[in-house]
Amino acid sequence: MMDMHSMTDELLELTKQPKIAYFSMEIGIQNDIPTYSGGLGVLAGDTIKTAADLKLPMIAVTLICRKGYFRQILDENGRQIESPDPWEPSRYMKLLPTKITVQIEGRDVMVQAWQFNVKSIIGGIVPIFFLDTDVDGNMPDDREITSYLYGGEQAYRLKQEIVLGIGGVRILHEIGFEIKKYHMNEGHSSLLTLELLNMFKRPIEDVWDEKLVWDTEKVKDLCVFTTHTPVEAGHDRFPYDLVSRIMGELIPLNVLKELAGKDSLNMTLLGLNLSEFINGVAKKHMEVSRNMFPGYEISSITNGVHTYTWTCDSFKKLYDKYLPGWANEPELFVRVGRIPDEEIWSTHIEAKKILFDYVRANTGVEMDPDILTIGFARRATAYKRADLIFSNIERLERIGAEKLQIIYAGKAHPKDDSGKRLIEKIFSIKERLKDKIKMAYLKNHNMDTALKMVSGVDVWLNTPLRPREASGTSGMKAAHNGVINFSVLDGWWIEGHIEGFTGWSIGPNPDETTLIDNMDTRDADDLYEKLENIIIPLFYDNRHVWIRMMQNAIGKNAYYFNCHRMMRRYVTDAYIR
Ligand SMILES: *Cc1c(COP(=O)(O)O)cnc(C)c1O
Repeated sequence: MMDMHSMTDELLELTKQPKIAYFSMEIGIQNDIPTYSGGLGVLAGDTIKTAADLKLPMIAVTLICRKGYFRQILDENGRQIESPDPWEPSRYMKLLPTKITVQIEGRDVMVQAWQFNVKSIIGGIVPIFFLDTDVDGNMPDDREITSYLYGGEQAYRLKQEIVLGIGGVRILHEIGFEIKKYHMNEGHSSLLTLELLNMFKRPIEDVWDEKLVWDTEKVKDLCVFTTHTPVEAGHDRFPYDLVSRIMGELIPLNVLKELAGKDSLNMTLLGLNLSEFINGVAKKHMEVSRNMFPGYEISSITNGVHTYTWTCDSFKKLYDKYLPGWANEPELFVRVGRIPDEEIWSTHIEAKKILFDYVRANTGVEMDPDILTIGFARRATAYKRADLIFSNIERLERIGAEKLQIIYAGKAHPKDDSGKRLIEKIFSIKERLKDKIKMAYLKNHNMDTALKMVSGVDVWLNTPLRPREASGTSGMKAAHNGVINFSVLDGWWIEGHIEGFTGWSIGPNPDETTLIDNMDTRDADDLYEKLENIIIPLFYDNRHVWIRMMQNAIGKNAYYFNCHRMMRRYVTDAYIR
């Protein structure tokens, strides 16, 4: 179906070199392309940007999600109202003439792709192909398959995952790419392995056992799987009757069951069984994943963030002055000690004022730049325990009156009722504390508010229920801006934390690898204890040591927890073996 004459020279050029194909259900590349919901998507965007910085031969595949994730409105009680967040692909990207079809419910559904080039500040380019079923000739329902990120019911999700996995492989081949590795960022794209199995199928007359028709070793050689989910319930599963009805029999059901689970199609199992390299996203998460999936060889590559994207303007200027070349070589943060204390502090105050201006415009709350400010911004969902700091409100009030301010942001998934209740709870406490501890909850958290938050507060708070935070990345963003982490020992912080040096821990050491019950009171006690006796006194009475810790956040945390280090690991451990 490809018309060679209408294919651009640039795309032709791109197909000349074999590529690593990175598949992700969500990608957060810039604020006005709302095709992400949180950390997973932003990590995907950061990965692609870094591949461009390092001039890696990579291309990426995702869904167009024309209606975005959603725009969050909060009423005066903190009730979340969701509205669609439509955007216009043609403003940012080019529609390719290539079309392929996938079979859904027995129908041929046409899939087209938009090409968006991620350009590095140093010249590398990684194209992202945004798949789109809004094609003339498709039935109205089918045209909506790529409209909503994480929308709809199970059937809708399965259709999206067929388009992403199977449609993605087909379109890359139709364009003419030679793919050396398929990297699945989480299980949503695992169906791509089925397309590969079909591609490398051996003729039946060549094998003595029917099972050997399926060249699983060949497919495994091509595949890399990154899991991000430390809890069983978090993995996508589809009942086989739904799979048969919607996907049909792409490969025989008995073969599929062997690869993806007896009772239901488990997208993670499918990815694990057909990937030669499998990794968790932090060392702890590797252990947890090994426990959850015994028998699989699971490595770990700890996440990072894209240094240039997650450094605010004032720190960009400061680093340019003292550490030229830092953006493409974050190892230069090792020399952070050369930056004078006063300049680190004044740079931070600049970022703090920018955040406070935004807080005023967004919520009407006037914050005081001289007061110790805590930030908490991420998806509003129960395990992240945004309300842990309110476990004992009287105690918090006593410790923090006139000495603390707290800024929140975060969206709850439209179907996550407990996440929505969390936001409402924070709103009511905000009202109750307002004369003693000023609080604000920013509306419509996105990549822009995230950068303002991680650079404009003094302390970055993270209180997940262990061991559910596979990695977490917002704390790494904070470190890039000299903001000190105060966090439960989970995910990346187990590796980045040196008590009283890079930041502070909350709660006990992370010994468990499975979920254990509620530890709220123990964690909250520790949080109050440190806030009262260490953090607040240090901030107000020993600014010199405080700035030392900001330097350590940069020189020890940002130095390591960046995507440049992470991508080099993916290249040497996963892509080239
Ligand atoms: C980085 C980022 C996240 C991830 O936050 P965690 O604390 O790692 O969960 C979520 N949302 C947005 C908009 C981000 O930029």
